[in-house]
Amino acid sequence: MGQMYDADPSKPGRQCVTCGRTIDWNANVCMYCGHDFRVPMGPPPKKRSSKPVVGGILILLAGVLALAMGAMFLAFDATDFEAYGYDPATYDMSLSELDSIVGVCGIIVLILGLVAVLGGVFAIMRKGFALAIIGGICGMIGIGFAIGAVLGLIGLIIVGLSKEEF
Ligand SMILES: [Zn+2]
Repeated sequence: MGQMYDADPSKPGRQCVTCGRTIDWNANVCMYCGHDFRVPMGPPPKKRSSKPVVGGILILLAGVLALAMGAMFLAFDATDFEAYGYDPATYDMSLSELDSIVGVCGIIVLILGLVAVLGGVFAIMRKGFALAIIGGICGMIGIGFAIGAVLGLIGLIIVGLSKEEF
């Protein structure tokens, strides 16, 4: 059986990845160290960059901004708005209607912000890739004073690029 491991001088050899010696180019097993090329090398060591942490922090910030904006929407009082020259008649909407629409928006933005904060924390811990991505999307949609949308998008891309670290 040892015969099958002998290098064929008519064919170019290749280097064994384990011992570095030249072996037959189509050998399945290294005749020197016994390295078996048919078996996958095993899982490569997990790369650990700072990407999930950086992306997670950005998503977290987007979430916090969305939470702040949602809270502002909830605190919004349309009667204050009147002082800035809002005339309900021109918009065909009563102040209470405006109030409730802004309130509903506030609740939606608050929920988006909460999911983004959660996703950001999960990204920082390198856990739950799907939740981190959902958090990034929510952070983006939450818009958080416009800057939150940008932070959410950048965080989402960075976390998306570091999928193998989860
Ligand atoms: Zn070898």
